[in-house]
Parts: sequence; structure tokens; C-alpha cells
Amino acid sequence: MKKFFPLFIVAVALLPILPTPEFWITLANYIGLYAIVALGLVLLTGVGGLTSFGQAAFVGLGAYSTAYLSTQFGLSPWIGLLAGIAVTAGAAFLIGAITMRLSGHYLPLGTIAWGLSLYFLFGNLDFLGKYDGLNGIPPIGLFGITLETGREMYFLIWLAMILAVIALQNLLNSRPGRAIRALKGGGVMAEAMGVNTAWMKIVIFVLAALLACISGWLYAHLQRAVNPTPFGLNASIEYLFMAVIGGAGHVWGAILGAALLTLLKDQLQSILPTLLGANGNFEVIVFGIMMVLLLQRARDGLWPYIRKWLPQKPDAVAPASAAALPMRARHAAGEIVLQVSQARKEFGGLVAVNDLAFDVKAGEIMGLIGPNGAGKSTMFNLVTGVLPVTRGEIRFRSLGELRRIDGLPSRDIVRRGIARTFQHVRLMPTMSVLENVAIGAHLRGTHGDVAGIAASIVRLNNAEEQTLLFEAKKQLERVGLGNMLYEEAGSLALGQQRILEIARALCCDPTLLLLDEPAAGLRYKEKQALADLLRKLKDEGMSILLVEHDMDFVMNLTDRLVVMEFGTKIAEGLPADVQQNPAVLEAYLGGVE
Ligand code: ADP
Ligand code: MG
Repeated sequence: MKKFFPLFIVAVALLPILPTPEFWITLANYIGLYAIVALGLVLLTGVGGLTSFGQAAFVGLGAYSTAYLSTQFGLSPWIGLLAGIAVTAGAAFLIGAITMRLSGHYLPLGTIAWGLSLYFLFGNLDFLGKYDGLNGIPPIGLFGITLETGREMYFLIWLAMILAVIALQNLLNSRPGRAIRALKGGGVMAEAMGVNTAWMKIVIFVLAALLACISGWLYAHLQRAVNPTPFGLNASIEYLFMAVIGGAGHVWGAILGAALLTLLKDQLQSILPTLLGANGNFEVIVFGIMMVLLLQRARDGLWPYIRKWLPQKPDAVAPASAAALPMRARHAAGEIVLQVSQARKEFGGLVAVNDLAFDVKAGEIMGLIGPNGAGKSTMFNLVTGVLPVTRGEIRFRSLGELRRIDGLPSRDIVRRGIARTFQHVRLMPTMSVLENVAIGAHLRGTHGDVAGIAASIVRLNNAEEQTLLFEAKKQLERVGLGNMLYEEAGSLALGQQRILEIARALCCDPTLLLLDEPAAGLRYKEKQALADLLRKLKDEGMSILLVEHDMDFVMNLTDRLVVMEFGTKIAEGLPADVQQNPAVLEAYLGGVE
């Protein structure tokens, strides 16, 4: 992508200098304005997985803030911009804090609701001129030049858009960016790596709203007049179309989508009424059909087809060396690390975990085995904070003491040193192996949330990035995937994906590693390699709790076993003894021969 961007900038800069007809400049201005809003939707919808039907309302907030201040108080457009940013950030934070909790279909419905509310607010407030809006907005002055014409505004609009592209790319290729990209995989994985997903959703909602606000500010000073029409639900839907058609998962998809839809709309608006012999917004029908076709044939939009022809390079590259990250103090061998006391989990009438008690000691591999449905994964989820216990206590040693962790959210549990993998692999298939593993190092970044995002956008995060990516590379080498750093994670074989998850968990700097059926679906050779890896980790002092269905796999690997059946512990002890236990044979084989 390195050569594409400079060429793009040269083309953008030449357009208004060459004798391009005024009409094309106007179209280009609108493409730039729309693309800025669509970029926000790439972040929010394409990357973050949160659909918003209300983006045009934030464009309106940006436009009306500056329109009001500049026409009623004669204030500079730049003050209007700052005010718009403040108003939008405040409104988006409030609205986001409420709507981002909604899930499934309720989220888009919620965004429609507040989008409409803001639209009617613009149309009904006296001081905003009701449906007539505000006229006589002054032009923007920049370095002593007044941007009066469309050709002059073009420079500012496209400068803003290019800066937005750079900012967004910088953000996405950073620690907070990886956390944002992990949102789409469902909150459970991101939370297990220490990401506060509720907060991250609000953050991307506010950032997307701010991009919309900047577009609105530019729009107001281009048009010199505002009224509510361009900030309604129709416009919001068009923005969403642009992002989806261009490719909502890609930064350049926003620009492609904005360009395509703007040009197409312009053509259709002149062709369709002649063709149909009546006036109306018929182009919306064409867009609708396009959208349906696209969702059926090319869900990722059109950008991936163009990207194929461009030179590729990995987004994140691990440095050859970097400062090592600080590590947690290890536990002394033999100390109790995890203590489960009478843990109980009921699902309605079903007792999935029945007053289970066991310990894991430092430096040992403890196996938790049992037939399917015995309650192993549920026990696992109690320890990792995915599910709350119904009763009982779970303690984990951190800072030298056994402390209660039941009731804590996942992200606080991983912060104390318990890292996990998933029975059903949870990774980001289109991200590289390296980036996937780097998500595990989320909590080892040095920046706070807001500072981290700001630093990433302006690329002041380089030192942190280097150490985190180096750590990810180191862990991948440790587990034997050092030759696959830049492959797409989704292209790996299942066995390798499971190993990737172990590397990701190791990036959390855990003192206890929890593995849920790591050998499931692996071939014999892969199982052997996995067993070797776990022995190696144990030799390095790691404590491991291994949940397994496959009895043969754990026999030579574990130091001790707990056997569960129907939620209850039926045996505990050395693997060789447990193997002879009649109750265990009964559970596994349905009776002693
Ligand atoms: P294992 O991992 O040992 O195969 P699980 O812990 O997944 O077993 O399941 C134990 C029992 O709890 C099963 O009967 C399962 O159907 C039930 N169960 C697991 N999760 C839930 C849930 N979220 N809601 C209701 N029942 C559940
Ligand atoms: Mg299970």
C-alpha cells in the first residue's frame, strides 16, 4: 500500500489546479465530505461491528454549532469547529453510553431513535431557524486566505479527509486499535485479554461522531447555509450504504464507497426521472437493490477487489529487537496458586458444577477431565469470570496472597495473571498471526486508554508498539509458530490456531494458564507437539490447568487429575491411580468389563 497513498495524494492535489470543470470540483467536494463520515462508519460498523443509522445527526451537530455561532454571534468558524467538537463529543458520549449497551437488532433501532430525535430537534428549535435553517454563514479563513469558492474549499475538505485516513490507519495499527478490532470477535475474547469492551465501544462511537462533526463543519462553510434535511434518517442510511458498498472493514472502502455512490447518485438523478417519466428520489431504489445484491455476493464490499491489484505489506511488523516487557513475579514451586472451594453453578434447575473443590499448585499441570457435559467448561468459565458462581469461592494467588476472584470480570482476572484459551478457537481471522497474539499483550501497554488512543493517532506510540510486537513475536517463537508471523490467522490449520491461542495467552504474562480442550480436533502428531509444548512451559515454571475430554492425552502429561461427571467430582489424584478408579472407568466406559 506504500506507493498507492502518495499517488493518491498527488492526484487529489492536481485536480483543482488543472482546469477541471467546476461541476467536477463540486462532486469531489461532496465525495470528500461523505468519505469523512463514512470513515467513521468504517471504524464503528466495519471494524467495531456496531451498526449506526444515526450518523447524519452528528454531521448536523457539527454544521449547526458553527452555523449558529458564526451567524448569531459573528464568531470565527474555527471557534465554531471547537464548539462543534465539544458538543458532539458530549452528546456522543451520553448517547453512546446508553445505546452501546444494546445488542443485536436493538442497537440499530436505538441509533434510529436518537438520529430522528436530533433531526426533529434541529427542525423545531426557534434559534436554529426551524425547518428553514440558518443562512449567511461566513467562509472559513485560513492563513489569511478566505475560502470562498468550492475550488478553495476543496483543499481544506480533502486535507481533512486525508488526515482522517492517516489518523484512522494509525489508530487501527496500534494497541487500542487491535483491541477495537477484537470487539467483532464477540466480547468474551477481548475481555479475556483485558480489554474493557463496553468502554471501547463508547470510544469508537465518539470518534466516529467526531469525524461526522468535522464533515458537518466543512459542509456548513461550503454551503453557507444549513437546514435539517441533509441530517435526517435518509442521509444516515446513505452513509451506511457508502461504507458497506465500498467495504466497511477497510479504510479505503469508505472513500471508494463515497465516490461510487456520489457519482452514481448524480447520474441516476438525471437519468431515472427521464426514464420513468416522473420526479422522485428513485436512486434510493437502485441503492437498495445494490445493497441486497452486495450483501449476498460480496459482503466485504468492493474494496477487496481493488486491493488485490495493489502491492501488499503486513500492517504490523515485529522489530528484530526491543526492550523486554517487565514480568510478573513467579510463584514458588508447590505453593497453592488456585483454590476452588465448593464452587457451584446452577442453570435454572440444572446443576452444572456441584460444590466442586480442588487446588492447583505452582509449577504443576493439573488436569480437569470428564465426559462431555460433565461441567468442565462451566468450571473453567467460573474461574475466568465469564460466568458468576451461584455459590462458593475461588481464590487466586497474586502479590503473594490468595485473593478471591469470584465475582470479578474477566478483564480483572487476566490482570491478576490467569490467561486462557477457548474450546472453540476465538481469533480474528483476517488479522495476521502476529497481531492476533499481540492482542494478548493488551494489558502490558503503558499508555492509559485515552492517552493511548491519542498517542496512536499521532504515532507517538512507537516505543510501546515495538515492545508489544516484539513480545508477541517472542511468544510465537516460543510455541513454534515463529515462521508464520505474517500469515492471516484464519488460514492456519486448526491445530496451529490452538497453538496461536496459547501464544496469545502467554502474552498476558500469566502465572496460571487455563486451556480448554486444547487437543480437541488435533491429529496424533499435533497432539504430541502440543504435549511437548506444555511440558516445556511447565519446566519453565508455568502452572497449567488443563480441561480435557481425551483421557489418553492427559495421562502422560498431567501431574494430578480431577475427574468430573454430571457436575460432581468423582475422583482426584495421580493419573495412574485415577485410571484404575472404578467410578472413572464407569463414567468413561459405561462400566468395568
Ligand atoms: P463440558 O465442558 O464438560 O463438556 P459444560 O460445562 O459445557 O460441559 O456443560 C455442563 C452442563 O451445563 C451441560 O449439561 C450443559 O448443557 C449445561 N450448560 C452449559 N452452559 C450452559 C448455559 N449457559 N446455560 C444452560 N446450560 C448450560
Ligand atoms: Mg467443554
